[in-house]
Amino acid sequence: MYKLIDEPEIRRQVAVLGERISGELQDRPLTVVGVLTGSIVLVADVIRQIETPVQVDFVRASSYRGRTTRSRDLTVDAVELPDLSGRDVLLVDDILDTGRTLRALAELLRSRGAASVRTAVLLWKRDRTEADFQPDYFCFAIPDVFVVGYGLDYDGDYRHLPYIAVLEPDDL
Ligand code: 5GP
Ligand code: MG
Repeated sequence: MYKLIDEPEIRRQVAVLGERISGELQDRPLTVVGVLTGSIVLVADVIRQIETPVQVDFVRASSYRGRTTRSRDLTVDAVELPDLSGRDVLLVDDILDTGRTLRALAELLRSRGAASVRTAVLLWKRDRTEADFQPDYFCFAIPDVFVVGYGLDYDGDYRHLPYIAVLEPDDL
């Protein structure tokens, strides 16, 4: 396992992200919707960088088990989503890989009446993302490696690491 992005670097980029989001909102109320479980750390950090009124909710979606990053069928549990009608929504996830998770979730939130849905991720595996999708905001573009930390897990472990690390075959 080796460190890919250290804690101060993450802090700096998350602050920039918060500034950009605040600047573009211009005082319109925002609902941040985090994708469980990987987004919890980024959601906690980024909402404290937003200076306009914010509500926070989470949705559970899983397209992924264990180490493989190939997307399977997406399962979404959004039964408890609040009323989003007329609200600007920022959909937050830890990492954008193929883009299938965020694309499907953005569509779902639009169908729940959101006025707008934008997406934000900490990490973007740009080379793996399907051609017609890109995040509205991202902090770091990374190569196609398996990463953990700052919310990202390997079979439930490593989410608490304050930095991003790459897992190597020996770690698995
Ligand atoms: P997508 O739908 O964009 O292909 O998949 C996104 C999801 O795949 C993320 O929410 C995350 O759960 C998982 N994922 C993709 N790449 C990685 C990775 O390198 N490490 C971990 N821990 N999860 C990943
Ligand atoms: Mg995830």
